[in-house]
Amino acid sequence: MKYSLPSLPFGEDALAPVISKKTIGYHYGKHTKAYFDNLNKLIENSPLNGKSLVEIIKNSEGAIFNNAAQAWNHIFYFEQFTDGRNSRLKGDLRAAIERDFGSEIGFKERFVMEGINIFGSGWVWLSADVDGNLQIDKCSNADNPILKKRIPLLTFDVWEHAYYLDYQNLRAEHLSALWMILNWDIIEKRYNNRTIL
Ligand code: MN
Repeated sequence: MKYSLPSLPFGEDALAPVISKKTIGYHYGKHTKAYFDNLNKLIENSPLNGKSLVEIIKNSEGAIFNNAAQAWNHIFYFEQFTDGRNSRLKGDLRAAIERDFGSEIGFKERFVMEGINIFGSGWVWLSADVDGNLQIDKCSNADNPILKKRIPLLTFDVWEHAYYLDYQNLRAEHLSALWMILNWDIIEKRYNNRTIL
């Protein structure tokens, strides 16, 4: 079977200027696509061929794991943004963030700080357990909270390919700007539907 890159849920220029059309073109059209293309080649003769990306992530290592996890992480990442710009943190997720991080602002500052502190490439995640307790996970390279049996809710990509064209070395500025395009409705839905993957 072929693993194929889904189409973006918005136009390539929808997130500008926070993420430029050029960055989307490279990040989605080339980097993310390459993870799918590599996976298709690597998995051809593997018993995992035909399994879901999550099943592959849980049962592989090395190049197959890296490409499957990067494919899944990027779809999850791009899905969470909006061109609407009027999305607000509310409901049970707001209550959980205030309980576990003090305030929305406090959470955002800590999340960005953890992202800045990842040495090299990786992802910063907000994850939950089935009871709704939140934590921030710092992951290197392709890692994600699925392997720790935690439920991913939100992620910022700190690989340089995610921001270098728009922000050069300024990872902090890029991460801080992403809140402007975050679709909290999606994050809230992920929180309310939480099940171990
Ligand atoms: Mn990326």
